[in-house]
Amino acid sequence: MPGVDRSSFSRAPVCVACGTQYPEAEQMTECPVCRDERQYVGWAGQRWTTTAEIAADHQIRFEDAAGVMTMALQPEFAIGQRAFLIPQEGGMVMWECLPAVTDAALERIAGLGGVQAIAISHPHFYSAMHEWSAALGGVPIYLHEADEEWVRHDSPFLRFWDGEHFTLTGALDLVHLPGHFAGSTGLWWKNGPRPGGSLFPGDALYVVMDRRFVSFMRSYPNLIPLGPKALGRLEAKIGPLAFTDLYSAFEGREIIGDAMERVAASFARYRDALKG
Ligand SMILES: [Zn+2]
Ligand SMILES: [Zn+2]
Repeated sequence: MPGVDRSSFSRAPVCVACGTQYPEAEQMTECPVCRDERQYVGWAGQRWTTTAEIAADHQIRFEDAAGVMTMALQPEFAIGQRAFLIPQEGGMVMWECLPAVTDAALERIAGLGGVQAIAISHPHFYSAMHEWSAALGGVPIYLHEADEEWVRHDSPFLRFWDGEHFTLTGALDLVHLPGHFAGSTGLWWKNGPRPGGSLFPGDALYVVMDRRFVSFMRSYPNLIPLGPKALGRLEAKIGPLAFTDLYSAFEGREIIGDAMERVAASFARYRDALKG
C-alpha cells in the first residue's frame, strides 16, 4: 500500500501468550500484561515473537458475525480475540485490535473503504495497535486514560479520553465500563447493525457458553470475580444504554435480539450468587 511505512515495527517484540507488542528499544525480559493477575505467563515461560513472524504463518480471516464484519487470526494466536469493522461515514471504525498486520488484510480493508479510527476496550487487546495505526496511514487510537500505564510506545496517534462517555462518531459512543480494568470501555453503536443498537463491551461483560447470560470478572483466565461494589458500579453505567444486540470479543459469543434483558437478568443472577 502506498505511503505506509511500518518497517520500524518489524523487530519489535510481541508476547506469545497475550499478543502485546512492545517497543524494540525496551529489550523486554518479561511481559507486564502477563505478569498481572488478570493474565498468565505461558507454562513454558516467557516467549517472544514479532508481527512479521506471526504474519508468515497466520492469515487474517474476515467474517460476517450477525451483521458485523470481523477479523481474526487464523490459526488462533495468543488470546484469540477478534476485531470488528464498523461502517461509518468517513470510513470504518476498527473496534479492538489484533497481534499482527498482513498486507492481504490491509488490501481488504482498503477495498471496504478504509479505517478512520481504532478504539480498544482494554489492555488485553492493545496487541499491535501502534503498527495497525501506522499501517492504516496514522489513524488515531482511542483509549481510556485510566489504563494509560499499560501503554509502552510513545505515539502521536494515541488519543486518551476520560470520564463516562466519548462521542466517536454520530452513531458511536465509547462508554466507561470499569471492573475488569480501571479503564475498561465499551463501544455503543446506537443504531446498528440493526435499529435497536448494539453494545460491544470487551471483557467488561463476558458472554458465557449458553449465550443467554453474561458474567463479570476481574480476571477470566484466573477466575477472580467482581465483588458487589464493583458490580453495582458497572450496572449503573450499563443502565442508561439501550441495545438489542451484544457482541463479545470472541467468535460466536453474541446475544442477538434481547441482549438488554439478558444483561439485566445476568446482573440479578450474579447478585443472587454473591448473596449465597
Ligand atoms: Zn504477555
Ligand atoms: Zn481482558
